[in-house]
Amino acid sequence: MVDGNRTFFLTGGAGFIGSHLTEAILAGGDRVLAIDNLATGSMDNVTHFLGHPNHRFEQASITDRGVMEQMASEADVIVHLAAAVGVKLIVEHPVQTIETNVMGTEEVLRVALRNKCRVLIASTSEVYGKGSKFPFAEEDDVLLGATSKSRWGYAASKMVDEFLGLAYWREFGLDVVPFRLFNTIGPRQTGQYGMVVPRFIRQALGGEPITVYGDGSQRRCFCDVRDVVTAILGLAGHPDAPGRVYNIGGTEEVSIQELAERVVEMTESDSQITKVPYSEAYAPGFEDMERRVPDTGRVHELLGWKPKRDLREILSDVISYERGRIS
Ligand code: UDP
Repeated sequence: MVDGNRTFFLTGGAGFIGSHLTEAILAGGDRVLAIDNLATGSMDNVTHFLGHPNHRFEQASITDRGVMEQMASEADVIVHLAAAVGVKLIVEHPVQTIETNVMGTEEVLRVALRNKCRVLIASTSEVYGKGSKFPFAEEDDVLLGATSKSRWGYAASKMVDEFLGLAYWREFGLDVVPFRLFNTIGPRQTGQYGMVVPRFIRQALGGEPITVYGDGSQRRCFCDVRDVVTAILGLAGHPDAPGRVYNIGGTEEVSIQELAERVVEMTESDSQITKVPYSEAYAPGFEDMERRVPDTGRVHELLGWKPKRDLREILSDVISYERGRIS
């Protein structure tokens, strides 16, 4: 199917990534059908598309079979983004996290099979758990923590999603493409569910203390949401994409302490950087990942994809966006 003639069905279409994906799909002349139960998504992310002739939004859940069937019957590609997001939310609501992720994906795969849609399933770098081989590659073994720690329930639920998706591909020949996102950031991301970049920027602009959890030596690679969207759309359209998992992320590493310093410098803020123990920030016994770096060789090989924006450019965009929100 050629660009400009496809219909995408997005679950989680009012989320941060869903809103950027919608923008890119509509810009390419394709059509978007979107649902979101607005649990973590927001109408602010879709209001500017409402009324667009190629966009239809419905407030609905992925367990709402009637809506799912209707949307899928009109779609060529389903991008399944609806999921429990944010480490804070995951730790505080472990039942909702596991049920949403596992049952939701099951519904999506079934409806995709009945309607012969390609399915892209959003997974996460959390599945690499405490792996100590860097960078993380898709075929690496994974090492999760004990089942008594809620965080790893999220990773395990996303692994089930990947297993199930690949099983539908193998057993039923459904075009399934799971992709693992690594710390995606950009304008419109909310800090409400724990994400570090919008939190630090809002704290800096508000003159509040910047809350670095642990000792700040943990390292992450951030990637601009618009680069991520380019990779997702590449996978949606490539004939050889199905049947494998793809890492999508940036490769420029930064420690959380350095990130805090950079945010203070770029916002010219008077905020102090404070250290907050993990037990206070999340829960006693919380385990963080010390380092998380993607090997993006597979997606590069298939699509020639590489992130275009570096951390400074992304932070600058998010700072402008956050300044606009408060003025
Ligand atoms: N973090 C922090 N302060 C905050 C929020 C998060 O120091 O206010 C840390 C968090 O502990 C983790 C990193 O920043 O080490 C990235 O957190 P985020 O929740 O954005 O993504 P994660 O990599 O944990 O999925």
